[in-house]
Amino acid sequence: RSSAEKFEFQAEVSRLMDIIINSLYSNKDIFLRELISNASDALDKIRFLSLTDKEILGEGDDAKLEIQIKLDKEKKILSIRDRGIGMTKEDLIKNLGTIAKSGTSAFVEKMQTSGDLNLIGQFGVGFYSVYLVADYVEVISKHNDDKQHVWESKADGAFAISEDTWNEPLGRGTEIRLHLREEAQEYLEEHKLKELVKKYSEFINFPIHLWATKEVEEEVPAEEDDASDDEDNVKKTTSEWELLNDVKAIWLRSPREVTDEEYTKFYHSLAKDFGEEKPMTWSHFNAEGDVEFKAVLFVPPKAPHDLYESYYNANKSNLKLYVRRVFISDEFDELLPKYLNFLLGLVDSDTLPLNVSREMLQQHSSLKTIKKKLIRKALDMIRKLAEEDPDESSDTDKKEVEESGDSNEKKGQYAKFWNEFGKSIKLGIIEDATNRNRLAKLLRFETTKSDGKLTSLDKYIARMKSGQKDIFYITGTSKEQLENSPFLENLKKKGYEVIFFTDPVDEYLMQYLMDYEDKKFQNVSKEGLKLGKESKLKQLKESFKELTKWWKGALASENVDDVKLSNRLADSPCVVVTSKYGWSSNMERIMQSQTL
Ligand code: ADP
Ligand code: MG
Repeated sequence: RSSAEKFEFQAEVSRLMDIIINSLYSNKDIFLRELISNASDALDKIRFLSLTDKEILGEGDDAKLEIQIKLDKEKKILSIRDRGIGMTKEDLIKNLGTIAKSGTSAFVEKMQTSGDLNLIGQFGVGFYSVYLVADYVEVISKHNDDKQHVWESKADGAFAISEDTWNEPLGRGTEIRLHLREEAQEYLEEHKLKELVKKYSEFINFPIHLWATKEVEEEVPAEEDDASDDEDNVKKTTSEWELLNDVKAIWLRSPREVTDEEYTKFYHSLAKDFGEEKPMTWSHFNAEGDVEFKAVLFVPPKAPHDLYESYYNANKSNLKLYVRRVFISDEFDELLPKYLNFLLGLVDSDTLPLNVSREMLQQHSSLKTIKKKLIRKALDMIRKLAEEDPDESSDTDKKEVEESGDSNEKKGQYAKFWNEFGKSIKLGIIEDATNRNRLAKLLRFETTKSDGKLTSLDKYIARMKSGQKDIFYITGTSKEQLENSPFLENLKKKGYEVIFFTDPVDEYLMQYLMDYEDKKFQNVSKEGLKLGKESKLKQLKESFKELTKWWKGALASENVDDVKLSNRLADSPCVVVTSKYGWSSNMERIMQSQTL
């Protein structure tokens, strides 16, 4: 068209499109769920705006928040239409081509190594998956603030935009027309589309309709003199909108009615990850009382690669907030503390007000209560993960657990959790004073007696020697390095158990974790180590008083604070100990590596 304005795709976007077009990736189905997901997002946006401005929805069909799919077998076009927020001309230029999102280059990079297109939605570039099945795509869009426009591209590095003067007016929303490639004609089959919507878009909260053909039998009025009965009924085909999904939100159902498979599928749709992996666990509950809400929380099977990378700058929660079934936001930091950012899920509240701005909602007093309950439930869910794991139970009750049915599947699940998210629990202990004890219960570590396995504070305490008052630990870079430490000589010989803390975050952790179940923590490389009876030591201290005094003088006071007799050693003659409130040598090392 001569009136069309031409644009070039941003370079990274162009590369991404090349990769998609030339991809040998066999699962081309994914384009449909990306388009439906975009349609659903657009519907969420207009519904949210309509909360404070009723007029915005318009009237009649425009006000119907739905998605429609149509097939044109002759022209080989598949089209998906929504009555969502739509895009202005400027939106079309920015969103579909000229502004590369941060995920674009990350995804291009990933594609070069793995070629698994399945995660495209997670990188925020799902739209371009249309070029898996189409060689020419038109996006027709009408936003309330602009005229109707058409975006079109053959993925040849450029796209064009024109004011739409020839198509039927959309009222509001977006229609995406895919001119299907020769080898993608299967997407013109109704049964294929039905199957895909069932498989991938089950949890879309707007009705999805397909313009489907239907055979109807029409009775022909029988003529008096007609001898045969056969031709009384004539088969005719007509077309009508057929609803493909059940829009009852999964979280509104009773947890008893929802199957594990349904939760897994729901998790995949939230995570935009349609792989095979199941979530580690989940919790679905209904909070009652002053603040009412329903929530589903999932622990993902794996930590995302960047979970801790930007921990202190980013506050990215993965919870979606709904108010009375209306999607409000997935960028609500106030629902969960940072250290629980690894959880995925949603909250739907009946108590929060619907007709206020996002900013006002953020200040609402109920949020504090919701947050408190969510934390409690999340920590309960993680505790259960440990309780149900046969590897976690103490030897005495092991038998019982092994006899229970699904113990095989649950075996080792807590170690797996710890491996992926243990650092989050430690960060929680540092940040969340209210729940510190609950979090400390979830802590796992190795000790001088744990035999290479993970153990807990409760188990440590159960094994404490009689007369032992404190919980002993040592910090360092690795277990191997610590095992030969002179600080452990005597403790080992006398049969005391010592915890190894070898993660850099552990040094910070132990500045916050002062005690557990009325027991204090004692770093065995620091001053203050007490082992059982101290009376003999007192006597010895007296008789060697002169020697220690001389020694202290000889070492000069800027090198050491004090020289003391100690019962912590067995074979080594002496050792340098950190003062009670000083940095351990490990902490000195960590601080040095950070300032360098
Ligand atoms: P994402 O959905 O993760 O943002 P996409 O590549 O799927 O990434 O979509 C890019 C952008 O294009 C969206 O963020 C949205 O602004 C816009 N968009 C795509 N489809 C629609 C639609 N049906 N209605 C309105 N805007 C849309
Ligand atoms: Mg998308």
